[in-house]
Amino acid sequence: MKGSCNCGSVSFDVSNEIASLYQCHCMLCQKQSGSTSNTATIVKESDFLWLSGTDSISQWQKDSGFTSHFCKQCGSPVPNRLRESNFYWIPMGLVENVDIKISAHLCCNSKANWDDIPDAAIKYPDMPEDLDNFINSLQIKR
Ligand SMILES: [Zn+2]
Ligand SMILES: [Zn+2]
Repeated sequence: MKGSCNCGSVSFDVSNEIASLYQCHCMLCQKQSGSTSNTATIVKESDFLWLSGTDSISQWQKDSGFTSHFCKQCGSPVPNRLRESNFYWIPMGLVENVDIKISAHLCCNSKANWDDIPDAAIKYPDMPEDLDNFINSLQIKR
């Protein structure tokens, strides 16, 4: 599954099928996306490959540790390693259109008033307490 930023400089490939997606509705993700949330997934490092443009990536880090990686040319958010883990965060808007469902919504307590989260979804009020468990749950197709 290939993905690229708006200008095409940064591109990547995910070799394994992506199982499920999540949306984070926290204030940081609202500002970073300019919208209700970030729609993303998390994949194993061994399934992730940069195809081009890593020299076009710039990054910004908040004191809390939140980091935003983006294309210097066009400003699209781009994948990045989750802290010190063996996983990569993938912003799904960059990936070619695939038929995968959003299985979980994070930080629902912070959502914008104009953001409607479907009732049927799994909703976390904040960040999941057990992040490893959450990442594992994303590897299961729903
Ligand atoms: Zn770009
Ligand atoms: Zn967030």
